[in-house]
Formats: sequence, structure tokens, C-alpha cells
Amino acid sequence: MARNRLTPNRHLPFGDRQEAPFYGKDILGVGQFRRADLHDVFGVAHEMREMVARVGSFDLLKGKILANLFYEPSTRTMSSFTAAMERLGGSVIPISEVHYSSVAKGESLPDTVRTLECYADVIVLRHPSLGAAAEAARYARKPVINAGDGPGEHPTQALLDLFTIHEELGTVDGLTVTMLGDLKYGRTVHSLARLLCQYDVQLRFVSPDSLRLPEKVKAELDEAGIRYEETEALDDVLGQSDVLYVTRVQKERFDDLAHYESVKGAYVIDRDTMSRAKPNMVLMHPLPRVGEIAMEVDDDPRAAYFRQMEYGLYVRMALLAMVLGKA
Ligand code: ASP
Repeated sequence: MARNRLTPNRHLPFGDRQEAPFYGKDILGVGQFRRADLHDVFGVAHEMREMVARVGSFDLLKGKILANLFYEPSTRTMSSFTAAMERLGGSVIPISEVHYSSVAKGESLPDTVRTLECYADVIVLRHPSLGAAAEAARYARKPVINAGDGPGEHPTQALLDLFTIHEELGTVDGLTVTMLGDLKYGRTVHSLARLLCQYDVQLRFVSPDSLRLPEKVKAELDEAGIRYEETEALDDVLGQSDVLYVTRVQKERFDDLAHYESVKGAYVIDRDTMSRAKPNMVLMHPLPRVGEIAMEVDDDPRAAYFRQMEYGLYVRMALLAMVLGKA
């Protein structure tokens, strides 16, 4: 976040910075979150869940405005940020059709965020370029939340994924988490793998050879001392997996559509696959799915992808409240 003389007074309404480490901060990548921070976010997310169950909406962020700036398609991230803000009593400027905004006239990202921050208190940004959220944050005085920067990161998704694992299995330590599909371009995988470095986990990566996890992410796992294995065959690791995190092949990131066609149907999770999985395995997917999980699996109690979306609402409510100094 850029600082200049218009930077708002950061005097906290309660306590000191120690107690509100995310107040006024950008959320750009999962590297910002230590284990104690995750504990805080999840504690607030639990409170949000209870409040939503009890009263639906409440006025914690009354008068606050969120700008939802999406240069790439989104269903869940955009609508859950909108719902999160509105359930907290705030309101939203939605810019999801950037081609109807001044972006279509050639306006740069820095100018667009400098415009929106005149009207909003926080900006949620999804953009096709790696590093776009960090670039926006350099120019913005208000907090920027990265809602996906191309093949880079998707930190709020990883937070809700981790929350899901915790809610479903009661713990994260000691688990074997398997990630499957497009590990090269799948930003949710990059963020979740990095976030899991805070825990005592083992990771398994299953993908076609051409879609393996980037070396940079693997180097971070090595540095954190995380044990992991890579394979092309799900059956090598299915039986030992406590979590199976399935991803879509990210068609929009491929230069060569023939390559996409050759890998898109590489894995399909169906009833037969689930019959070989642990009885309490959690099956997750950031969604949208485009054939990687057969609909026949949806009724399996281990299929957590719809619950995962709901957890996302509470985690995003928590993040908004924390960034805006109200949690
Ligand atoms: N919705 C997720 C993302 O934006 C996953 C996906 O699109 O495959 O990264």
C-alpha cells in the first residue's frame, strides 16, 4: 500500500497494532500469514459463522465500501466477497465487466485503482497477470486484497481451503494432502501448498508431467522441510490421502490449445475412485469443475466442495473485518 499525505490516520479504535496485525494491510500472498495469524483469522471466521446463523446480517462494517474489481471471470470469489461485505452491513462497487469500464478505453491498472480508492475503503482485485495485485497495492493507499493474479496466488482461497480442512477433519497437523490436476497454472494450489508449510503435513502432487508444480514453489517446500512426492498416477497415493484437492486444467493459461486438449481429461474422480479412498478422506475442489469430479460423487459425505464454498463466506467476512480494523 502506497503512503502519501492522504494516507488515512492509522490510529486504531482499540488496542495496539499487535492486536490487529491486518488492520489497513494489503493481502497479497499467503506468505504474510504465520500460524498465529491463521489462528486469529479462523477464530474470527467462527464468530462470523455463528453470527450469520443467528442474525444473518449485522452492522460491523456499516458505512464501509468495497470495490470488487475483476478482470477475469469469477462466480464464487466475487459473489462471496459481495455477500461478505453486505452481511457485515457494508456495500459494494462491482466492476466485473471491465470492458464496460474505462479499462476498455486503455486506462492502466494503477489509474483504475487510484480511482476506486477515492470511493471505496478496500479493493478486491482479480487480474490475469502475475504480480498485478502487488502492482496495484504499490499505487493504492487503501488495502488491496488479491483475488487471484493469473497463475500466481489466490490467498483468500487458500485460507478458506485451510479452514475447510480444519473444519472437516479437526486438525491439519499430521495429514497427507494430495493435490491433483493443473499444478503448474493452478494458483490455488500454489497458495495452499505454501500455506501448508506452516503445518506438519506431507504433500503429494499428482499431475501430467507437463503440468507439474513450479520449481519455485517446490523450492519453498524444500526450504520449509516439507516432505512431498510427485507422481502421474493417482493410485500411487490415493489410499494414503487424508485430503484430495482436485483442480481444473486452466485452459485460459495455455498458449497451445492442442496441449490443453491432450491433458484436460487426465483425471476424473468418480465413485470407483472414492471406493479406493480412505473412509474419512475429504474431497475438495476450488471450483469451477469441468469434468474432474463426476456428479455421482456429490452425494458422498466426503465430497466437501460445496461446504468449502460456504466456509469461504465466513473467511472472507473475517478478512474484511480484520483489514478494516473491526475484528
Ligand atoms: N476459482 C479458482 C481460481 O480462480 C479455481 C479455478 O478457476 O480453477 O483460481
